[in-house]
Amino acid sequence: MIAERIKEIQSELPEGVRLVAVSKFHPNEAIEKAYRAGQRIFGESKVQEMTAKHESLPQDIEWHFIGHLQTNKVKYIVPYVALIHGIDSYRLLAEVDRQAEKAGRVVNVLLQLHIAREETKFGFSFDECRAMLNEGQWKSLAHVRICGLMGMATNTDNTAQIREEFDSLGSFFREVKSTWFAHDDAFRELSMGMSHDYHQAIEAGSTLVRVGSKIFGERIY
Ligand SMILES: *Cc1c(COP(=O)(O)O)cnc(C)c1O
Repeated sequence: MIAERIKEIQSELPEGVRLVAVSKFHPNEAIEKAYRAGQRIFGESKVQEMTAKHESLPQDIEWHFIGHLQTNKVKYIVPYVALIHGIDSYRLLAEVDRQAEKAGRVVNVLLQLHIAREETKFGFSFDECRAMLNEGQWKSLAHVRICGLMGMATNTDNTAQIREEFDSLGSFFREVKSTWFAHDDAFRELSMGMSHDYHQAIEAGSTLVRVGSKIFGERIY
């Protein structure tokens, strides 16, 4: 089942769009099935869980951290993480930089924007993000590479609303790219779309879809 779903989703993705298989709360055996089907990028939302999986699974897996990251836990994932999707404050960005320097790495990150109407989702507002980028201190952080933006739409059946939220992040991405990263080829990722809305996210310009339950089934918390 898992292998079939991976192949099915992979076959629908246009060129330039990559699949992050969100394996949080699922055991190593489920990840191994996806791995044998060719999947190499996996997304996790808990530091301890991702680190344990990193230590026990094949070393060519790219681990993406997609959850809310606390500054005191950054040090555990910085040595191996391939991409941190959820940078939602300058303070967190600076801590990733500090730990990455210690680990002798440059760590790839995405800035998370709050586009949903729910209050529970993390992220910068567009204005907070503009202010942080204008302020300019981030340019001196030599051990983080800002590769793009990430966002989550409201959890709703209203497809018009989801579409509007993804479109707003798509146009904000183009603004940020042309204003602050026009000459930076690394800034090119837009992480949006989950099991129930990734087709719409792709239409709005997503380059990284984060799909969990459609591949692995429902999570048992
Ligand atoms: C859990 C999670 C996903 C995957 O959600 P599904 O609905 O299972 O596809 C995607 N992105 C983030 C940030 C998540 O926390």
